[in-house]
Amino acid sequence: MASSPKDLHFVLFPLMQQGHMIPMIDIARILAHRHATVTIITTPVNANRFRPAITRATKSNLKIQLIELELRLAEVGLPEGCENFDMIPSADLFVKMYAAMDMLEKPSENVFRQLTPAPSCIISDNQFPWTTDLARRLNIPRLVFHGPGCFTYLCLHIVMNTNVLNEINSDSGYFVLPGIPDRIELTKAQADGWGKLRETKEMEDFFKRMEVAADDANGIVVNSFDELEPNYVNELAKAKDKKVWCIGPVSMHNRSFLDVAERGKKAGIDEGDCLKWLDTKEPRSVIFVCLGSMSSICREQILELGLGLELSNTPFIWCIRSTTDETERWLLGYGERVKDRGLIVHGWAPQVLILSHQAVGGFVTHCGWNSTLEGVTAGIPMVTYPQGADQFINERFIIDVLKTGVSIGSEQDKFGALVKKENIKTAVERVMGDEVDGKVRRERARELGELAKRAMAEGGSSYLNTTLMIQDIIEELAKKTKPSQDVL
Ligand code: UDP
Repeated sequence: MASSPKDLHFVLFPLMQQGHMIPMIDIARILAHRHATVTIITTPVNANRFRPAITRATKSNLKIQLIELELRLAEVGLPEGCENFDMIPSADLFVKMYAAMDMLEKPSENVFRQLTPAPSCIISDNQFPWTTDLARRLNIPRLVFHGPGCFTYLCLHIVMNTNVLNEINSDSGYFVLPGIPDRIELTKAQADGWGKLRETKEMEDFFKRMEVAADDANGIVVNSFDELEPNYVNELAKAKDKKVWCIGPVSMHNRSFLDVAERGKKAGIDEGDCLKWLDTKEPRSVIFVCLGSMSSICREQILELGLGLELSNTPFIWCIRSTTDETERWLLGYGERVKDRGLIVHGWAPQVLILSHQAVGGFVTHCGWNSTLEGVTAGIPMVTYPQGADQFINERFIIDVLKTGVSIGSEQDKFGALVKKENIKTAVERVMGDEVDGKVRRERARELGELAKRAMAEGGSSYLNTTLMIQDIIEELAKKTKPSQDVL
């Protein structure tokens, strides 16, 4: 019978999307540091993205392994190798990926039956609803990892489980979200970021299965910390009638240069060069601009964003993805104009490394949850530039609950409309400038950054929550083995 973490074997199923895989890999290493055995089940392309981090972990004697399973992509009509959501050309093809993910149930069970020591707990992304049945067949507990923080999870719970959206006619008028401690105003389109995705019957059914699977879980693992959203941790636990363990910010578990620098993908810049560039800048003078791993903005918006940064006269690092040849040509001239104070990164930025440099004083973010939390951890205020999914809800959290952000203006424009360079300049100046409200935001952000560090340190709230979560699994396992012992 399991009596300590070293007797436990956690099997993790991360969703194949950077914003879900990156924190799950961190969670895997956190558990392995507590002496548990950890297996991560994923596909070859995704395993390759994380192999360097896992190899480093095993070299430092952590019991952690990657197991690769093939997605049957041809059967669902996706091209070979298209194993991550960031490789799927358009959102209407996501349904095919979910179909391929469903086919992993049987091969996963075969893997489980051969693993030694025998698995004792599943931690699964919510988007693998069949892991509920797998856990039941294996008679082991299953925890669910959903992605966002407690505030956003609770807002989504209300949106999905009440009639609130049906009572609102207009997509663009603001309404007050009922049933939560703060006054939060959203439009219907912002609150229902996956509305478009749910329009087909297949996806509607998939969302229902996810809800049922979340209800069946033994508890919820959240990448957040108690001090960040104390009211919402409790409210979420009540709404879901489940234990909620905030064990983050999990990105802070990375201590070595390579673990901080290499998260998820090869960066489009030499990390050392990036740090050298930052070393030449004044403390808290640089704004970092990065819109996550999935969102791609159109050419016109790239130009507006660049021009807004130029107008703001603030030093910046700007991470740009998926540009056309035409945009690349424009960037050549633009780069020349701003070369004294702007660094452009193509593709993937070493985000956490950049954010943790003392020269960085602000973050233009699309408000993905990991980026939000990484900005909080860095102790800096944010310019919020949400695009869809849960990002408009996270924006409200940053602005209305944490009070450390300034909106870029995507909330004022129609959903998806261009944000103008003047709005960008104003938002950047408000966050980086010395006006009284800017100073208050900066101080508040600094305090939250300190709280984040304390939460992850030994004896901090997230450290203790990890201990409690492990203890709870040990108790669950004891309950499950008890009846058979009684029979004996
Ligand atoms: N990220 C990064 N470099 C990039 C883009 C993203 O390191 O150029 C990381 C970022 O640090 C975060 C994750 O990718 O950990 C993105 O997750 P998030 O929830 O912020 O947004 P998503 O990409 O899922 O929309």
